[in-house]
Amino acid sequence: MIPPIASQFVAGEGPATALDHARELNDRNVKAILNLLGEHHHDRQPADEDAETYLRLLDDIEGSGVDACISVKPSQIGLDVGPEVFRENVERIVDYAAARDVFVWLDIEDHTPPDATLDAYEELAITHDGGVGVCVQANLKRTERDLERLADVPGKIRLVKGAYDEPESVAIQEKSAVDDAYREYLEYMFEHFDGGIAVGSHDPEMIALAEDLHEEYGTDFEIQMLMGVREDAQFELAEEYEVWQYVPYGDKWLSYFYRRVMERKQNLFFALRAILGR
Ligand code: FAD
Repeated sequence: MIPPIASQFVAGEGPATALDHARELNDRNVKAILNLLGEHHHDRQPADEDAETYLRLLDDIEGSGVDACISVKPSQIGLDVGPEVFRENVERIVDYAAARDVFVWLDIEDHTPPDATLDAYEELAITHDGGVGVCVQANLKRTERDLERLADVPGKIRLVKGAYDEPESVAIQEKSAVDDAYREYLEYMFEHFDGGIAVGSHDPEMIALAEDLHEEYGTDFEIQMLMGVREDAQFELAEEYEVWQYVPYGDKWLSYFYRRVMERKQNLFFALRAILGR
């Protein structure tokens, strides 16, 4: 069972509680991005099993009628086993989701260059005329080139600051410089993309910038935030904009919770305060 301190950020261990949470979000005009926790499988069997679990989740989403999509970690479905294993599983998931009219996001993770994921995204988005999206990280030095390359692909791009410590050879190190890059890329996307922009940030400054850019360029966008983070703001923004909440679930919650706390120590305080206030 997930301890109350972590349940601020994780919607239970199985799909039923995650779908319940999604339904509650839908009642407040927020849509759900469901993520089965797990990453870095080094053997084919667990990667295939998690891909299979995603297919069952897609059945559940279709059957429940909730407004939800899924977000998948490439290393969870075989990227560390081999690019061909990842490719097979991601195609299986995206094809299955397309048949059920459910959108699929691909997260971007640490260390490995994102080429295999971006290539898969590009091909699948073109084949399915959308229906799939990918994350790009503002801290990576290559992101400007990736955005130029992906500008005309008919899917969606989620711009985040980047959650992983990466070496200086590939990533900007200073937080203020990452923020500058985020602003620059956001502006590029609103100017050059034909919609399909997801602002994956809790930062009020970046959200305000996106609102201004939307006014200036008229480009459609959505806001994405994590479960348990600035939820009041999510509900408030949902009165005016399309808002999606990233909802992780599953028994591998510990490392996810640890990452949220390491990213921002106040998360521990917020989680404690929420429990004490119950
Ligand atoms: P930060 O720079 O962390 O904070 C800026 C400001 O936001 C703070 O000053 C504060 O005002 C506000 N804020 C931030 N956190 C809190 C909080 N807990 N409580 C209250 N206010 C807060 N990263 C990846 O590398 N790959 C991915 O695939 C990926 N997917 C993501 C999907 C979604 C939907 C989201 C929201 C994030 C994702 N991330 C991903 C994580 C991302 O890279 C950042 O690490 C994370 O979002 C923190 O950066 P930030 O933009 O929210 O703002």
